[in-house]
Amino acid sequence: METYIDVMAPEKQTSETEESVVREIREIRMKLGEKVLILAHHYQCDSVFQFADNTGDSLGLSKYAAEKASAEFIIFCGVHFMAETADILTPDFQKVILPDLRAGCSMADMANFDQTEECWEILSDASSEKVIPVTYINSTAAIKAFCGRNDGTVCTSSNAEKILKWALEKGGKVLFLPDQHLGRNVAYKMGIPLEKMVMYDPKIPGGGESLETYANAQIILWQGFCSVHMNFREQYIGIFRERYPDITILVHWECSFEVVQKADYCGSTAFIIKMINEAPYGSKWAIGTESHLVERLKNLHPDKFISPLSAYACQCATMFRIDAEHLLKTLKEIDRGEVSNIIRVPKDIADDAKIALDRMLEITG
Ligand code: 13P
Ligand code: SF4
Repeated sequence: METYIDVMAPEKQTSETEESVVREIREIRMKLGEKVLILAHHYQCDSVFQFADNTGDSLGLSKYAAEKASAEFIIFCGVHFMAETADILTPDFQKVILPDLRAGCSMADMANFDQTEECWEILSDASSEKVIPVTYINSTAAIKAFCGRNDGTVCTSSNAEKILKWALEKGGKVLFLPDQHLGRNVAYKMGIPLEKMVMYDPKIPGGGESLETYANAQIILWQGFCSVHMNFREQYIGIFRERYPDITILVHWECSFEVVQKADYCGSTAFIIKMINEAPYGSKWAIGTESHLVERLKNLHPDKFISPLSAYACQCATMFRIDAEHLLKTLKEIDRGEVSNIIRVPKDIADDAKIALDRMLEITG
């Protein structure tokens, strides 16, 4: 069992090169002043996180970009769909930059526009009932635009329950993209039985189920998932509970149904942080979410026992591509006036995606 404790990477010694990168970032950041805003998602590594003007979960960061950001350059230390969302929600004079274009989200890439159109046709053949498309914010701008065009909206892991409730009041059925787990976990929590949920697999012609099955379903779940959160296994929960009878299991909505059912609490990254911040001295926690966040929580709360719900570090490898060196490169480019990696969503897609995002912000307030 000891393998399940303290599996975090040992604290790194800072090298001279790292120190000089940090120094340079500080200097250029100071020089650029209010021209630049640095946003970082909770999964970002500390070497970048420390420079953020604002940190948050997907909902928090998109709201911040929409309501508060006024800087000419927004450096988004997250993944591609987050930078796209910020670009859609901010006026044209603002430029959103993703320091490394390879920082994508494998889940967002699991639903493309053509596949979604094909699914839409199949669902309209299956039933005349109104279907509301809802996409998790972890999706491309094209999928958000599809939802905007078809009376649908976007959700995040913080507001999925409110959004699903809204969608079910508006239509008889919901097509939920691209994370099957968030869709299933939240719908089940709302009292929708598993028999009323069915999977649509874009890799199988027809989605993998009969038209009759789609006609009888209330929630159609896209066959997408997060490979990071799939690493948290049901059996780890049993091992932790046996070893620490008073441990609390806290997981992200992107974990599997079985894990969520066995956990004590489930929520977004913001919820996970809040739970740990408010937890009593000496309490014990095993957390099922990305390891940079778990490691940060562990460092911030030495008075509590905090462990990842896994035998090894589960990192979002793509978000991790944005390291301090990439942040420095971006700042240097802005300073020289030769900016690269600007994320610009084409206007027709951005306009429709904005309809879906504004709808979400309206529903959730
Ligand atoms: P949050 O909405 O909780 O920030 O999650 C985003 C994400 O990508 C989790 O994997
Ligand atoms: Fe995407 Fe998973 Fe990374 Fe979140 S943790 S950004 S869902 S790959």
